[in-house]
Amino acid sequence: METTPSRILITGGIVIDPANDVEGARDLLVEDGRIRSVTEPGGLDRHAQGARRIDARDLLVLPGLVDMHVHLREPGFEYRETIATGTLAAVAGGFTSVACMANTNPVNDNAAVTEYILERAREVARANVFPVGAVSQGLEGRCLAEIGEMRRAGIVAISDDGRPVADGSLMRRALEYASMFDLPVLAHEEDPSLAQGGVAHEGEWSVRLGLRGIPSAAEESMVARDLALLPLTGGRLHVAHVSTRGTVELVRRAKEKGLPVTAEVTPHHLLLTEEALREYDTNAKMRPPLRSAEDREALVLALEDGTIDAIATDHAPHHPDEKDVEFEQALDGVIGLETALPLVFSLAAERNIPLRTVVRAMTVAPARILGIDRGTLSVGAVADITLFDPEVRWTYSARDGCSKSRNSPFDGWELRGRVRMTLVGGRIVWPLGPTGTIAGS
Ligand SMILES: [Zn+2]
Repeated sequence: METTPSRILITGGIVIDPANDVEGARDLLVEDGRIRSVTEPGGLDRHAQGARRIDARDLLVLPGLVDMHVHLREPGFEYRETIATGTLAAVAGGFTSVACMANTNPVNDNAAVTEYILERAREVARANVFPVGAVSQGLEGRCLAEIGEMRRAGIVAISDDGRPVADGSLMRRALEYASMFDLPVLAHEEDPSLAQGGVAHEGEWSVRLGLRGIPSAAEESMVARDLALLPLTGGRLHVAHVSTRGTVELVRRAKEKGLPVTAEVTPHHLLLTEEALREYDTNAKMRPPLRSAEDREALVLALEDGTIDAIATDHAPHHPDEKDVEFEQALDGVIGLETALPLVFSLAAERNIPLRTVVRAMTVAPARILGIDRGTLSVGAVADITLFDPEVRWTYSARDGCSKSRNSPFDGWELRGRVRMTLVGGRIVWPLGPTGTIAGS
């Protein structure tokens, strides 16, 4: 089998590397899996003998994207997604690193499961996989999981995502323990007693459609609780999938006070509102739910002004049998790895948001929150690189995607921009060649 050459020269592209304040035409030399040099166009020609040349004219050259919130479903739910298919969807979408949530079966609440995930990733993953450990044993919200043990095994954060940590004293202890191991707590914020039985945002459309609502207060009250715990614990709070204007306000004020809080938003909350439920489309059913136009506007502004640090997909694959059912019965969540970058770039173009702002939110910002050495094109960094064509138009078909699942609210959308090539550790992992194997390997 031919292997990707150890030297790759990427020429003629526009590099956007927010970590190094670079935005402009640059050539890149990759050697032995790392970035060897980044220079003005043409500057590398005499160093590049024997290198494979990649012509990046008309393309953007980005640090490989980092998604800090995905569900890979393995172990336990391989009929929805596997580490192999999930990371293939990742690299198809330009993501070179993903943090995978703990709600597998068994739950990732001890070192043996963390090690299993990392072992499978070494065998089959196309992208870097960073496991997230559970906050509580079995995600049951009663006793803390084996946080120290999991940290030694390789977790980068803790989260009961999929479920909120309802018990305030457990959250207090989670923040304390996490700070001892320098891990952020990724919080799925939702007061279960306020959200109970809800399937949609409590507002205009839940009333029109006769659906039980989840009030914004379900999220905001728990965000307020966890922010209040920060000074007591020394922990770092990361608010996952922010969905309301009130949460944005809480995070903004907490940051002004200097509290160690960060936040993420999903592409679907940035692009869609509760109106997407109009036809009872279960592919628009997620948690937190799609909110009002006002909330959506607040999220866009918060991304722009940095109140929201990161964009994460919350890629949540479900089998058609779990979605093609009555609205109330359908499981929550949508896939998103293959559509995130085109959607976010279209939004940036439409709203005049600087590209470096959205690239930062998809690269160095999540990498820093997780404490992983990724998301930059610094000389010496691991050569995780994404080549993106910002102009091409194409129609997304979930059926033809790389994920095992198809539950996307963007199925059939015409998207602008597409990932042309993805490198992980200097290896070309996307596109796949004609035989279904990795190009050049
Ligand atoms: Zn969640």
